Amino acid sequence: MRIDKLLANMGYGSRKEVKGLLKQGVVKVGDQIVKSPKEHVDVEKDEVTVLGEIVEYKEFVYLMMNKPPGVISSTEDSEHETVIDLLELEDSIFDPFPVGRLDKDTEGLLLITNDGQLAHQLLSPKKHVPKKYFAVIDGIVTDEDVTAFREGVVLEDGYKTKPGELTILKSGETSEIELVITEGKFHQVKRMFESVEKTVTYLQRLEMGPLKLDETLELGEYRELTEEELELLK
Ligand code: URA
Repeated sequence: MRIDKLLANMGYGSRKEVKGLLKQGVVKVGDQIVKSPKEHVDVEKDEVTVLGEIVEYKEFVYLMMNKPPGVISSTEDSEHETVIDLLELEDSIFDPFPVGRLDKDTEGLLLITNDGQLAHQLLSPKKHVPKKYFAVIDGIVTDEDVTAFREGVVLEDGYKTKPGELTILKSGETSEIELVITEGKFHQVKRMFESVEKTVTYLQRLEMGPLKLDETLELGEYRELTEEELELLK
């Protein structure tokens, strides 16, 4: 790997800033000062230091974001801001992508990583990874809806959903619920409520498999997963 890419990925600044560091002669590979940003290093074997501090190499980045509304959960969009646009430069240099999609107006837990294997495990329909949502519903959510969701509801395109675990937190003209589903069909939560003639007016993802939204993250904020969270996911 080129040394400028390595240092930028490990948080030593943008490629331009890293070039500046190299020029100053503070970067060493073994005991040799390296000044060229094009220098290649073997990340497994070479000891790279900046001002005497060893650069710890990591291949993957794992970020938990509290997705804000109005932002698209993809890597690029010609019109709208994406969750990747919200990342600091050194995080985005890893080429991370969101694991699964939340609608533009949905908030909450979003895992962002460049670990394709982990993303595949979490998204594979065969793995039935549970996802827990909180939602505000326009309409009275009833025990009949709980039973219907448990049995699986038929969406407007004829697809019958797998069982969903619906918990009513508040029932009235406006209801509040939690729903756990093990699939990830397009607009699934909204369409499940449409099938029982109700409308989701607010949707937030709380959990994905063992990962729980860190409630201290403000909308749009993110942090790296802790070692414990990563252990649970793998
Ligand atoms: N279900 C939806 O309808 N929207 C989401 O963003 C996620 C699940």
